[in-house]
Amino acid sequence: MTGTAMTPDDLASVYRDLHSHPELSFQEHRTAALVAERLAAWGYDVTEGIGGTGVVGILENGPGPSALLRADMDGLPVLEATGLDYASTQRGTDPAGNDVPLMHACGHDVHVTCLLGAASALSADRSTWSGRLMVVFQPAEEVGAGARAMVADGLFERLGRPDVVLGQHVGPFPAGMIGIHPGMAMSASDTLHIRLHGRGGHGSRPEAAVDPVVMAAATVMRLQTIVSREIGGTETAVVTIGSLHAGTKENIIPDHAELGLNVRTFDPLVRDRTLAAIERIARAEAEASGAPRPAEVDHVDYFPPLLNDDAAVARTRSAFSERFGAERVFDTGPLTGSEDVGVLADSAGVPCAFWFLGGADPALFAGASTPEQMMAAMRSLPNNHSPHYAPVIEPTLSVGVEALLTAAREWLPA
Ligand code: ZN
Ligand code: ZN
Repeated sequence: MTGTAMTPDDLASVYRDLHSHPELSFQEHRTAALVAERLAAWGYDVTEGIGGTGVVGILENGPGPSALLRADMDGLPVLEATGLDYASTQRGTDPAGNDVPLMHACGHDVHVTCLLGAASALSADRSTWSGRLMVVFQPAEEVGAGARAMVADGLFERLGRPDVVLGQHVGPFPAGMIGIHPGMAMSASDTLHIRLHGRGGHGSRPEAAVDPVVMAAATVMRLQTIVSREIGGTETAVVTIGSLHAGTKENIIPDHAELGLNVRTFDPLVRDRTLAAIERIARAEAEASGAPRPAEVDHVDYFPPLLNDDAAVARTRSAFSERFGAERVFDTGPLTGSEDVGVLADSAGVPCAFWFLGGADPALFAGASTPEQMMAAMRSLPNNHSPHYAPVIEPTLSVGVEALLTAAREWLPA
């Protein structure tokens, strides 16, 4: 059975459905079931439950190479504020047991929809390509664990090794455009938690306490000297302290403070130095404050840098230029976002070509003719992970499907 390619109406209705039903990392059961059912109906050989909720569809279509097309499936614990009529009102339970709002704030619903669209078209028309197609719907990209989980669960041993890994991510630049960068395309990301121990007491008697609020404040300020004072002018690192929690009441000195940090780097040596500096500063500030116990630094997650293969990018980019026009394809430069798609390519030992798909209403860029004006327009728009992030349905979905088809046919020529 081959079926027919999804129409723009089908794509939009699947997208709206996915958007209003986001699921947290490793909890993508509804999404995975929807994907598996569709793939089976189009004649794919479907394997479910790889690395938790991962789904793989394989379609053999004559001799030739093998290409892996990947989409990630998870949403985020964000309270949606887009005001869209298909906005999520769902809630979920995070790994710590907290009740959290859910939103597809990173656009992974776009990725799933587009890969379904491409999978349907490649099944419906098998005269335009030849070889072995692997469509991979990956769990848990947001926590940097899904690709590793699929690999650890025997993805390539059980289902074969592709010759290339291809995939895309939607972003806040004009829909209809595609960005791609050879080489180091996205940074490594490390998430750390720091727990600073003080000694709690009455707010009126600081001499009888060790104040973790002051300790945390000093730690935050000194952590911000790592990039300015320890990292070279030609090196890149980002250190963001995205959460800081201590205390419950104005006149109580709490007994501990917690910091949540995220670090972005491109160079492994810069990464090592930055992580070592964080650890050193946390411990030293605790000691300087007279903390009763050393600071605890936990490494929560890690995304390796995304290394796009130069030759694979050149080949994919020229296919895009031919299909969409060179003026719609641009070089993003290296980005400080992070992705775990590179784990699939690294583990398979094959090249990766990963690109960015415009998802913003092109009308919002109407007055922007220079790259500077374009960047200014981009900065004014809600970014991925924002509660206001809302890609336009078209032309985003159609171009996303077409980009995957173009790449697949380039790597699996008829
Ligand atoms: Zn994300
Ligand atoms: Zn994402």
